[in-house]
Amino acid sequence: AQLDTLDLVVLVALLVGSVAYFTKGSYWAVPKDPYASSGAALNGAAKSGKTRDIVEKMEETNKNCVIFYGSQTGTAEDYASRLAKEGSQRFGLKTMVADIEDYDYENLDKFPEDKVAFFVLATYGEGEPTDNAVEFYQFFTGEDIAFESGATSDDQPLSSMKYVAFGLGNNTYEHYNAMVRQVDSALTKLGAQRIGDAGEGDDGAGTMEEDFLAWKEPMWAALSDAMGLQEREAVYEAVFSVSEEDERSPEDETVYLGEPTAAHREGRAKGPFSAHNPYIAPIVESKELFTVKDRNCLHMEINIAGSNLSYQTGDHIAVWPTNAGAEVDRFLQVFGIEDKRHSVISIKGIDVTAKVPIPTPTTYDAAVRYYMEVCAPVSRQFVSSLAAFAPDEASKAELVRLGNDKDYFHEKITDKCFNIAQALQSITSQPFTAVPFSLLIEGLNKLQPRYYSISSSSLVQKDKISITAVVESVRLPGASHLVKGVTTNYLLALKQKQNGDPSPDPHGLTYSITGPRNKYDGIHVPVHVRHSNFKLPSDPSKPIIMVGPGTGVAPFRGFIQERAALAAKGEKVGTTLLFFGCRKSDEDFLYKDEFKTYQDQMGDSLKIITAFSREGAQKVYVQHRLKENAQLVSDLLKQKANFYICGDAANMAREVNLALGHIIAEQRGLPAEKGEEMVKHMRSSGSYQEDVW
Ligand code: FAD
Repeated sequence: AQLDTLDLVVLVALLVGSVAYFTKGSYWAVPKDPYASSGAALNGAAKSGKTRDIVEKMEETNKNCVIFYGSQTGTAEDYASRLAKEGSQRFGLKTMVADIEDYDYENLDKFPEDKVAFFVLATYGEGEPTDNAVEFYQFFTGEDIAFESGATSDDQPLSSMKYVAFGLGNNTYEHYNAMVRQVDSALTKLGAQRIGDAGEGDDGAGTMEEDFLAWKEPMWAALSDAMGLQEREAVYEAVFSVSEEDERSPEDETVYLGEPTAAHREGRAKGPFSAHNPYIAPIVESKELFTVKDRNCLHMEINIAGSNLSYQTGDHIAVWPTNAGAEVDRFLQVFGIEDKRHSVISIKGIDVTAKVPIPTPTTYDAAVRYYMEVCAPVSRQFVSSLAAFAPDEASKAELVRLGNDKDYFHEKITDKCFNIAQALQSITSQPFTAVPFSLLIEGLNKLQPRYYSISSSSLVQKDKISITAVVESVRLPGASHLVKGVTTNYLLALKQKQNGDPSPDPHGLTYSITGPRNKYDGIHVPVHVRHSNFKLPSDPSKPIIMVGPGTGVAPFRGFIQERAALAAKGEKVGTTLLFFGCRKSDEDFLYKDEFKTYQDQMGDSLKIITAFSREGAQKVYVQHRLKENAQLVSDLLKQKANFYICGDAANMAREVNLALGHIIAEQRGLPAEKGEEMVKHMRSSGSYQEDVW
């Protein structure tokens, strides 16, 4: 078939898009270290000069163990730091942690025999590498691997390399832990010698932390054998020095009070805005979508005009949150630093390879409010590391027991959904004043941006990004308090403020709405855009089937908005079928009225099939409706419809996936496995796409 002009345009756009996607903008030369640009807050890596040669770097800094991480949400990075600490404190290894994108791998065939490399690699989405591991992954899983020295895969070029591997995955996704599995097999094929098993943590089963803890002990034993290491009693050695600078005022312009980068602090932030450099965007509109009192779902419009940020329908926006004041206060109280919360602190890596994860100098208050994930579930290893600094013997004994007894820890801490400060409060009312702040920086993650599926169409509103977010407020069985999601409750508070709500702080969480140095006043929020592969067909006359219950409808509102606009312009738009589900038609039916307007523009080509789980005697979900409409679905697939799922990864996406396999098999008179196979085939050819979380 001949390509027409539109096809060519689309092809070129796709090519440019994928180059941009896979290089993650590295051709735009964005500084990777946001603090390095000002020179005010150089971290260890920046100070020591940035070589990309890991062999040279280890030689220079006298290390014999490098722990590479491929991390998206910070967990893999956290595990890497913990392994580094343990390796150094328990086994006397000279460890360093390394972001996998900061080093080259073409010379790993020169990796010395008496050293070891760890790979702690998360799998993201559909078996993909994390953003920072894309190039590494492509190199090792590519067809023709060639090292700088000229060695190729036939030469067993990595035969001198020892490595350790742990993967972070989620078994509800099809390609479970694909990243670590593929990298492990590639390294083995190249002759490298794996020490211990390649570990796999499963977020889907909720056992990530325990999988990690269970994996690492036999790994350390195997590594000790392989490298002749002697275990010794671990004593805490700080990774960072934290010094209070009494002479410097927090108002001093060099102090970070929550700004994400030096340029933000200096008031000269400019693009390109990215995951390392967020745009402080105005929220131009915000409203509630639910009609019930006790649950909230926010619709927000974020203005990106003039920022040079752009998005395409189906992309994600990341929101950089602020911790709730109530939790910041609790944390500062528990660690006995409330009185000096506004003291300026300077944080430095004691070792040149230690990267300071938060901007410095800063204050205790700003560190806890803007830079540290203080509300997350607590890890057993971290709790046990606090035992040495307990305020009294009884609390110390309790922390030791919690650290050693997995079941006890689950009963007392995990099941109660405590964050770290709540966990310590449950042990004693005494403050933990002896805990070094360095240990808190090491033990807790950096505060992570949260992603949202953009719920608008870039064709209709290229400068305004819509977000549809349900406010997390859940009481898990076993917990006596509500767990309040960090970002969504912050967004709720912003919405209340924007709308002049009489109770601007519905839950007494006391957010710093106006941000560092009031820079977020007038309702701003830091954001960046992440491009995704979740895309409408380029030909709008192609039919589409979308399954998006709850906030899973977010990207589909964008899809429908786009197709309605095309229809209004007179373009031929194919059948646009949405399966939507929620509890009740008059409570949480998102965009109900808006969909009526689209219906007017699109006529019969828009079909919305609903499943209300709490209206009838029996619970009905989208997968049931899908089966009831098997023939329609099958007919559309025969007309080459794209099939999309968005929303809950744990249950819904899996159920819908199975239902689709059944429908295909049954409608075409094929055996069940054939149906499943066809869904797999659709997935690999791009006509079945998931955006699930
Ligand atoms: P968090 O603070 O991150 O908490 C989330 C959950 O973790 C809590 O509800 C609770 O179950 C658990 N938790 C937190 N702290 C504890 C604790 N101490 N103990 C025990 N459990 C705890 N969401 C949307 O609403 N709309 C979207 O369009 C959307 N799109 C997404 C797209 C992608 C690609 C991804 C990855 C996610 C998407 N999400 C979306 C989810 C969103 O990113 C956030 O995860 C969600 O809003 C919760 O964020 P939060 O900061 O409010 O909650």
